[in-house]
Amino acid sequence: MSAREEIVPVFVPHLGCPHDCVFCNQRRISGRQEPATAETVHMAIAQAAALPRTGAKRQLAFYGGSFTAVPFPLQETLLGAAREGIEAGVIDSIRLSTRPDAVDESVLRRLRAYGVETVELGAQSMDDEVLRLSRRGHTAADVEKAAGLVRAAGFQLILQMMTGLPGDTDDKCLRTAEKLIALRPDGVRIYPAVIVRGTELCELWKAGEYREHTVEDAVRVCARLLPLFEAAGIPVIRLGLNPTEELSAGAAVGGAYHPALGELVKSRVWLDRARGLLAGTAPGSRATLRVHPTRLSQMLGQRRANVETLREEFSLRELRVLPGAAGRNELLVEIDPPEI
Ligand code: SF4
Repeated sequence: MSAREEIVPVFVPHLGCPHDCVFCNQRRISGRQEPATAETVHMAIAQAAALPRTGAKRQLAFYGGSFTAVPFPLQETLLGAAREGIEAGVIDSIRLSTRPDAVDESVLRRLRAYGVETVELGAQSMDDEVLRLSRRGHTAADVEKAAGLVRAAGFQLILQMMTGLPGDTDDKCLRTAEKLIALRPDGVRIYPAVIVRGTELCELWKAGEYREHTVEDAVRVCARLLPLFEAAGIPVIRLGLNPTEELSAGAAVGGAYHPALGELVKSRVWLDRARGLLAGTAPGSRATLRVHPTRLSQMLGQRRANVETLREEFSLRELRVLPGAAGRNELLVEIDPPEI
């Protein structure tokens, strides 16, 4: 998703989903929520219509469940209501998220007819053992097939992956990223696992059968994933669950829930880059790192944590981090060795 896109969200609860992924609390939430109706969509469109157009592309987004697994008449009702928004010139297109095993050619033809432009597939992992332990109910091959169909039908393809699922490792996450890159998506979302109260994951964790994927675990592995997607020219359009009142008020009982996870990861990417450049530096040296001014706070880290870490790790006498004539993803280093 580019900065020139505005999202008009419509939440579609678990409703159509026949599965119960260990990390998902949609069933619990949807028990308390009214299913989306044409009226829900009309209201979202009316709210969008009241806002001035900024020139950004406006997409109505069906999120929250597996849209194409929702009973067909309800899909038609929701899509029909959304299409009215397109016809009225209030929104420009529709996006939705679904499961890889809930799309085929006829499903995609129907979406196309209603003005859907972007399809997000929840891949979560490309490791079949991780998918099985997470009770996803589909395989990596299903993801590959669905992604191919979505691309062949001319939709924008967004793939979602998770880190820290049951049976997952950093290496498995890296292999998942490589396999997703090979599917040539237009963007990815990365969601490190959060333990949400009321989920099976929470029960497994309490029973000692699941090791929590901490914020530090997520930052470590995502700092290796981000450069892979970047190098492949694939934008990471979201990193970490969107903070919500419910999660912040205690529904997130463990795992990688942090309102600024994306910033923590970017900061770690710069720390890792600096480590690479400073490798072999003689203890007692003075070092200066220069970054593009817009990257300064990421290089410094929260409360200058990166500076302190590097100074200690490399026993530097001084480490300065300055804005300079570096490219946006460039890190320049100058080292003054200690006088002998
Ligand atoms: S497929 Fe999606 S909506 Fe269904 S249980 Fe899994 S995460 Fe939840």
